[in-house]
Amino acid sequence: MRWFDSHCHIDDDFYQDHRHEIIQECQSQGLQRMLVAGTAPQYFVKQVALCEQFNLDFALGIHPWFIDSDAPEMLEQLEQAIEKFKPQAIGECGLDKIKGASFDMQKDVFRAQLKLSQKYNLPVVIHSVKAHKWVIEQLQSISLNRKGVIHGFYGSKEQAHTFVNLGFKLGIGPFLCRATAHKLHDVVKHIPLENLILESDSPFGQMNRKGIMQPTSPLSIIEVAKKIAELRDITVKQVAEVTFESTLDLFS
Ligand SMILES: [Zn+2]
Repeated sequence: MRWFDSHCHIDDDFYQDHRHEIIQECQSQGLQRMLVAGTAPQYFVKQVALCEQFNLDFALGIHPWFIDSDAPEMLEQLEQAIEKFKPQAIGECGLDKIKGASFDMQKDVFRAQLKLSQKYNLPVVIHSVKAHKWVIEQLQSISLNRKGVIHGFYGSKEQAHTFVNLGFKLGIGPFLCRATAHKLHDVVKHIPLENLILESDSPFGQMNRKGIMQPTSPLSIIEVAKKIAELRDITVKQVAEVTFESTLDLFS
């Protein structure tokens, strides 16, 4: 089986001492592709060097948690990096009602990145936390040639359908494997498989039962796929094939 992790942060310092081993382990298990999402201009050089070294896909963007007071300067650096490094996508970018810069500032920076997506004809990797309403508003007010993904999607079936109707994929991560994630289980059962893609968001993303964050590996997408297969009553192989093709299609 071939696997594609549509969203990870393998460039994070968490992997500093065992990055090579992790990537090798992923490749030996058929995880052929992974996209490393960007967070802020000060990390782009390191991120891109690593992606070139290991032949990984990457997106460049400004994450809402990383916006500082000099947003125009950050956006200028992002555009220069897009021209220089030619990423597969813009991101991650978006809106977060829980954490990050002021919401108005987040909206401006998100909007500017959607315009870069338009200008450079690149798909967008969107971070949306408790902000679907505003993200939908932004997406409805701009016409993008290439669409993108709502990464780590968590929301209602109705919101899921709205994003899919706007041409977006939903990135499904390890949160799906929780027994209590009923809302997400429902989404995964009802949205056509072609619109779901797998992501680990590693090393972030998994809270254990005691509420402590447990680091994840890109290989956690295989567990996500098993859960999707179980919920939809199809084979894991089908999930692997369809999600691999859709992710490839989105980013190439
Ligand atoms: Zn991320």
